[in-house]
Amino acid sequence: MDHFLYRDGVLHAEDVAIPEIAAAVGTPFYVYSTATLERHYRLFEEALSPLPHLVCFAVKSNGNVAVLKTLARLGAGMDVVSGGEYLRAKAAGVPGERIVFSGVGKTRAEMRQALEGGIRQFNVESEPELLALSEVASALGAVAPIAIRVNPDVDAKTHEKIATGKKENKFGIPIARAREVYAEAARLPGINIVGIDVHIGSQLTDLEPFELAYTKVAELTRALRADGHTITRLDLGGGLGIPYERSNSAPPLPVEYGALIKRTVGDLGCEVEIEPGRLISGNAGLLVASVIYLKHGEGRDFLILDAAMNDLVRPSMYGAHHDIVPVIEPAPGLEPQPCDIVGPVCETGDTFAKARPLPPLEPDDLVAFRSAGAYGAVMASEYNTRPLVPEVLVHGDQFAVIRARPSFDEIIKRDSIPEWL
Ligand SMILES: *Cc1c(COP(=O)(O)O)cnc(C)c1O
Repeated sequence: MDHFLYRDGVLHAEDVAIPEIAAAVGTPFYVYSTATLERHYRLFEEALSPLPHLVCFAVKSNGNVAVLKTLARLGAGMDVVSGGEYLRAKAAGVPGERIVFSGVGKTRAEMRQALEGGIRQFNVESEPELLALSEVASALGAVAPIAIRVNPDVDAKTHEKIATGKKENKFGIPIARAREVYAEAARLPGINIVGIDVHIGSQLTDLEPFELAYTKVAELTRALRADGHTITRLDLGGGLGIPYERSNSAPPLPVEYGALIKRTVGDLGCEVEIEPGRLISGNAGLLVASVIYLKHGEGRDFLILDAAMNDLVRPSMYGAHHDIVPVIEPAPGLEPQPCDIVGPVCETGDTFAKARPLPPLEPDDLVAFRSAGAYGAVMASEYNTRPLVPEVLVHGDQFAVIRARPSFDEIIKRDSIPEWL
């Protein structure tokens, strides 16, 4: 459920009409709903209660500081994968003890930054990383709390680019080797083992892979305890999928996911962390664009928008589907016509949808991409010197620009001319 509904035939974000934002900000833009962000966060909170737990929002899905602050106000932790995301979480007022640091390639500088600024735990993904962290922490006279990310070798049954829990993926330590690596970690200075971490992929629409992975984590917890380690925390990752196509998909609900967690690891007396990104931010955002031209091609019609693959890369990168709807509801009786929905970028890959039925639209009409709040603005670029798409946050009947569109002057001034030119 989200808070983007038609009222009197006009699409609204909560109590704000989308055309009102378009008039103030220009298109294209992203718009997020505070109520939807809050609702999705609370669904996870409720799903995990009464287990001791922390819901750590995956900053990589939507890192705008205002979005982070909206969630941090409710008590959310943050899962970060870079020093930059760590600073975003801090800028949103999240204390270090609620920030988890994930990722396969943490640099020593990033480790130092997190140890100095405060960190809940590092999710360590390899032995070389473990050794580097031990050295960095020891040099600072600090102790790094860690979980080791294990790779349970389960098939997440999701898009290959976002599956992370098979043995051929670059993530984590093979679960079969985990006891050996934990023994090594226990011997190292500057390292304090607190738990186990697992994250098997993104946009999972079936609970079974989670069940397999968490069952393996529960077995490993018992084995590591028998080896003498103190395991007090289980980080179960993110990855719960969302319905991108409303008409034909119904992924599991957070409450079902929570029940699965309780069933598989609930009796271990551990604090549970989860790292959902997409399920919190995905359906909390729209990308709004204007129609530039309608072009009749041979045997097909093209709807050319002012949004492009640089603003929302998921369709061209993952073949992802986004529902695309007119902002003004079409008059009843107008037959939808199939058209290819494309952007202005000079690549055929700049195609959002093929043969998608849409009601007749005219130049300057507004359309909205649904489910664009996750992996949308964060993956945007300025390819074709198209300014980074602005972001707007709605709260009831108010809205605010939370990242402005840069001017061409600002964009071009970032380049500098060497003295020999
Ligand atoms: C990407 C990622 C997440 C979030 O995944 P979602 O599918 O957005 O829930 C959580 N944890 C880690 C380690 C990740 O890499």
